Amino acid sequence: TSASAARPASARPAPDFLLVALRDLTEQRRLERMRTDFVANASHELRTPLASLTGFIETLQGPARDDEAARERFLAIMLDQANRMRRLIDDILSLSRIELKAHVRPDTVVDLAAIVRHTADALAPLAADLGMAVELDLPDAAVPVRGDRDELIQVAENLIENALKYGSTGRRVEVALRPEGDGASVFSVRDFGEGIAPEHLPRLTERFYRVDVASSRTMKGTGLGLAIVKHILTRHRARLEIDSRPGAGACFSVRFQSPGKLSRNGNMTEIDN
Ligand code: ADP
Repeated sequence: TSASAARPASARPAPDFLLVALRDLTEQRRLERMRTDFVANASHELRTPLASLTGFIETLQGPARDDEAARERFLAIMLDQANRMRRLIDDILSLSRIELKAHVRPDTVVDLAAIVRHTADALAPLAADLGMAVELDLPDAAVPVRGDRDELIQVAENLIENALKYGSTGRRVEVALRPEGDGASVFSVRDFGEGIAPEHLPRLTERFYRVDVASSRTMKGTGLGLAIVKHILTRHRARLEIDSRPGAGACFSVRFQSPGKLSRNGNMTEIDN
C-alpha cells in the first residue's frame, strides 16, 4: 500500500502483519456486503405487504367502494399486512440493536430457570391455541448464567415459539434446563413435528431464511427469529446446536458457559431477577 511504501524499509510491517491486515480487509468487505444485502432484503420484505396495502386501498377507493362484504374482507387482510410490517420492523430493529452490542459481553448474572419459566408461561395462550402441550423440566434451584435478561427471554421465546408453530403435528414440546457439573448449563427445546431436512440446517440462522414447507406457509414469521437468537448467543459466548431429521421433530439446544468463567470479579452471588 502507499502508506507502507512511504515508510523506511526497516519499519515496514512484517509479512505476518500484512496477512492479518489483508484478512481484516476481506472480513470488512464481507461485513459490508452482508449489510448492503440485509438492507436490500429488508426493503424487499417490507415492500411486499406495503404493495398489498396500497392495492387494497385503491380498490376500496374505487371498484369496491360500495361493496360492504368486500370491504370487511379487505380490511381484515389489510390489518394482517400491517401487522406483518410491524413484526418485520420490530425484528429488524431488534437485530440492529443486538449487533451494536455484539462485542460487549453481558455483565450481570441472571437465573435462567426463572427466565425459561416466565417465557413458557407467557407462551401458554399460543400453545393452547395450537393444541400443544408444553412439558417443562426445570431444576428447583436457580441456574445462574451471565447474561442479559431481556435478550435471554427473546432466545427462549423464539425457540419455544418455533417448536409450537413448526412442530404442531407432534402435539407436544419438551423444554428442559440441565445444569452441568462444571457450572455450564444446557437449555433445550424439543418438538416432535415434521423436522427439518439436512440441507436447510446450516442456513436456518441466516436472515430471512425460511424453509418452504406447509407449516412455514401457514405460520406467520419473518425469518429473522433464529438470526436474532444466533446474534444474542454469540454475544453470550453460548453455543447453539440444532438436531433434526425430517419426520422426527427438532431439538434446539444452547450451551451456556459457567458464569464463573465469564466473571471479571468472581462475583456469582448477584441474581438480578
Ligand atoms: P420465522 O419463524 O420467523 O420464519 P426463524 O428464523 O425463527 O423465522 O426460523 C426460520 C425457519 O426455520 C422457519 O421459517 C422454519 O421454516 C424453520 N424452523 C424453525 N424452527 C423449526 C422447528 N422447530 N421445526 C421445523 N422447522 C423449524
